[in-house]
Amino acid sequence: MAIVVLLSAYQRLARVIQLSIVPLLLLFFASVAYFFKAELIVQSLQQAHWLTYTGLLITALLAWLFGRSRLVWTLLLLCAMLVPYQASWFAAETWALIRFSASMLILCWLVTTSDKGFSPFNLLTSSLIIAGLVLVCVWLQHNVAINSWMSSHVLTPATTWLFSLWPVLHQGFSSLQLSLSLVALSLALICLLWRPNTTQLSLSIVVVTLVALHGLNRTALLNYAVLVLCLLIAYAVVKDSFAMAFRDELTGIASRRALMQFLPTLGRKYAVVMADIDHFKKFNDSYGHEVGDEVLKLVASKLNKVAGGGRAFRFGGEEFVLIFPGKTSAEVVPFVDALRQIIADYDIAIRSKPRPNKAPKTSTKKPPQDKIVKVTSSFGIAQRSKVHHEFASIMKQADVALYAAKKAGRNCVKVANQ
Ligand code: GH3
Ligand code: MG
Ligand code: MG
Repeated sequence: MAIVVLLSAYQRLARVIQLSIVPLLLLFFASVAYFFKAELIVQSLQQAHWLTYTGLLITALLAWLFGRSRLVWTLLLLCAMLVPYQASWFAAETWALIRFSASMLILCWLVTTSDKGFSPFNLLTSSLIIAGLVLVCVWLQHNVAINSWMSSHVLTPATTWLFSLWPVLHQGFSSLQLSLSLVALSLALICLLWRPNTTQLSLSIVVVTLVALHGLNRTALLNYAVLVLCLLIAYAVVKDSFAMAFRDELTGIASRRALMQFLPTLGRKYAVVMADIDHFKKFNDSYGHEVGDEVLKLVASKLNKVAGGGRAFRFGGEEFVLIFPGKTSAEVVPFVDALRQIIADYDIAIRSKPRPNKAPKTSTKKPPQDKIVKVTSSFGIAQRSKVHHEFASIMKQADVALYAAKKAGRNCVKVANQ
């Protein structure tokens, strides 16, 4: 159990590191540019405020188009962070006191929630949540009793050691601000490991950037930082949307579109396998479509772990395609047969009846037992040859072999006569 947890944590960490490469490169180049041309950058951005706002607007439109509501809210938040530096008409002091705490609270909510889209209802609830969080900050800031109680009983013990650890932090943070920053940073990290994707990563980078700029009192950098964050968020929108387009929604494995994109990368030698679940219609009829969906996910996850360098794709319905680059049909048979065996051996537990919340006290009956069922699948293999060198033609051969496997009684692997 402990090993499984460790392995999963390691895999998630590896995924985060893999996702971080491009954003970190972007941040690295932005920092290098600032390091060498700091004055030029600050001056030109001071003269061209519109540039940051245009960046915010374009990125927000992009995020809106792709339905990434959390990123749109984050961009609005970044826009609000710029306000004191642009508008002298605002009650800047009050705003400055609560704006950082409020932004940390809002980011806590954004990193833990999911994209809700832009239906009027969701827009309204999100606006109410944000307004509520801002009000909580205003109230905390102005309620002297609560403020001092929190400071002495909750915040001070937690933050004293941090201030002693890193005294420079004192300049920028009150205890409340530092505590909220720590909560936001921890939540961002946990949620990033929980859901490693580029959107989550860019939200975490926004938290880190805002905390770092505030703590080091480098708010003059905000304009430039927001512009760089806009680039990062635009990258996240595009990257995650593309990833979604090439992934099958139900099973999470590569989609048919990904297969079409993969084909041109194949050389002159490869094997194609068509896999089809046996009697799946009957399975659906017996246990329901929802259970059928779960079984599809299970079979897909097994296929996705195929050995021998194979890549799995959901072709449509209960049909899957495996591609083995650089291999002949004969070479892939052992890998495919091993998969067939793994799927056929797997015990699928099906609940016979929905369980009542509380078992009746007087009942002497045994609780309903999970029913164990199995599914099998059939496979047809073909390879690229002189006669069949077009993908469509190889697929046709693999389909003929699959048909032969079905006719031979199913739960078997057949190779096309080429
Ligand atoms: P065979 O052994 O000959 O392949 O029989 P079969 O019943 O599996 O084949 P058939 O093509 O007649 O039926 C395929 C079934 O797969 C029909 C449909 O109910 C089911 N199916 C296709 N896509 C999905 C899906 O996304 N979810 C679920 N639950 N079922 C699906
Ligand atoms: Mg079928
Ligand atoms: Mg089938």
